[in-house]
Amino acid sequence: SSGARVPVLVIGSGYGGAVTALRLTQAGIRVAMVEMGRSWTAPGSDGKIFCDMLNPDGRSYWLKDQTDAPVSHFMGAPYNKAIPRYTGVLDSERFAAMRVYQGRGVGGGSLVNGGMAVVPKRQYFEEILPDVDADEMYDVYFPRANTGLQVNSIDPTWYNSASCYQYARVGSSQANSAGFKTVSVPNVYDFSYMQRELAGTAQRSALASEVIYGNNHGKQSLDKTYLAAAAATGRLSISPLHKVTAVYPAAVGGGYTVEMQQLDTSGKVVANKTVTADKVFFSAGSVGTSKLLVTMRSTGRLRDLSDAVGEGWGNNGNVMVGRANHMWSPTGGLQASIPVRGIDNWDDRQHPCFAEIAPFPAGTELWISLYLAITKNPNRAAFTFNPTTGRVDLSWQGSWSGPSITAAANMFNKINSREWTVYRTDLFGGNKTWGDDFTYHPLGGCVLGEATDLYGRLTEYPGLYVTDGSLLPGSTGVNPFVTIAALAERNIENVIGNDFG
Ligand code: FAD
Repeated sequence: SSGARVPVLVIGSGYGGAVTALRLTQAGIRVAMVEMGRSWTAPGSDGKIFCDMLNPDGRSYWLKDQTDAPVSHFMGAPYNKAIPRYTGVLDSERFAAMRVYQGRGVGGGSLVNGGMAVVPKRQYFEEILPDVDADEMYDVYFPRANTGLQVNSIDPTWYNSASCYQYARVGSSQANSAGFKTVSVPNVYDFSYMQRELAGTAQRSALASEVIYGNNHGKQSLDKTYLAAAAATGRLSISPLHKVTAVYPAAVGGGYTVEMQQLDTSGKVVANKTVTADKVFFSAGSVGTSKLLVTMRSTGRLRDLSDAVGEGWGNNGNVMVGRANHMWSPTGGLQASIPVRGIDNWDDRQHPCFAEIAPFPAGTELWISLYLAITKNPNRAAFTFNPTTGRVDLSWQGSWSGPSITAAANMFNKINSREWTVYRTDLFGGNKTWGDDFTYHPLGGCVLGEATDLYGRLTEYPGLYVTDGSLLPGSTGVNPFVTIAALAERNIENVIGNDFG
């Protein structure tokens, strides 16, 4: 409540925040967590908590009048539709030349993501974070994160025959024919539950086109894993629909003043609150944390923050693309929304690319193969506070996706020429082949060892910490949440050991 003083305040309930909250509460420390999105526990009038991708309603998007789907067009026609304005679970936050998709709600990105739980290649991890002890990461913290996240793998025998993964088998064998290696990708979706979905003995979720607007069943999102475990200690309180707007040193008694707005589900501010915290953990995600910190630096409230705050943002080299298959290569009318297979060409020195074979769960046969490619794009953007608009800008330029397209085209041109197929140019609007103006994987803005010390401390302000994807320098080479969670495990262990007396 307003005016309260708390030992620890965590801003945001995604991976960085959830890991931090669990380890702090287990160490006996009370944690107050503030999350701008809803708590997704109460069903709507249809009895469901989340809506599916084929029938989006207000629950789909964060305060928008229209859906803003990544695949925005179909057969050249716009695919988006009007929805009531509501604090929905998926945000597509627009900057000048980049849309950033993010989860909004207790659980952050885990509510909307595909659940792919990938440990990066060790050699690449050492390249992006050379000052982090890789032995420790691979021996201790990656396994710890995988356990905490309840990662599991699909049974290969079931995968080989399940109708809902025909699209993955088609995508995989086409990649193999073109000379590329494919790999099975672990996930946090409970595959034994999915088997029951297909068998008809459990309510469908992955098999009912649910994923980016939330899964009603099957997915072990953070609210069911890390956050549930933290809550079970009795030391965690979560305030949903509370958005932090400012953090600065408290005038009296040490610690930090945290200003926040309480929102209703139409996004209206219903109360302004101020809390004082001895320690504040920024876990608002790459965009959320970077925006808050650059604003605080520019407006003089945390004026001594390093110049590196706001720098080093990348999109993990994300680019999306679709291919049109022949009539004799159907991808299946029933497609599991949870991806389980990747094309792994990361070791190609010239064109490293790790592409997830993505579903196109339209509920009908479309002969489309869709991919989300992760590439090694060297371009990095910066967040800056714009005093004229009072908002934060991101300097990413449209042309900066060029290196990602080149690397992905190296893969998919080969598959197309081997299969005698072409790209779909009707999916992203304006005859575009490449979905290159949006990302699912915002990373950086507060890079470990540059904007913070090697454990996420904002050293200019003792008691302020960064825990989320903003610590990663713009790229992980794979889907990022396992890396974010493992790094958070490592950092909080050090912080608990040294900063709590
Ligand atoms: P987040 O998970 O984004 O959490 C930040 C939280 O802070 C959010 O809940 C946000 O609402 C809250 N917040 C922000 N600002 C404020 C504020 N001012 N006040 C209060 N609260 C605030 N990654 C994978 O590894 N595998 C996948 O399969 C995968 N699929 C994806 C699919 C989609 C559609 C999307 C959007 C992402 C996907 N990702 C995937 C990426 C993954 O979800 C993110 O990398 C991850 O969630 C980032 O974790 P985080 O802790 O940095 O922040």
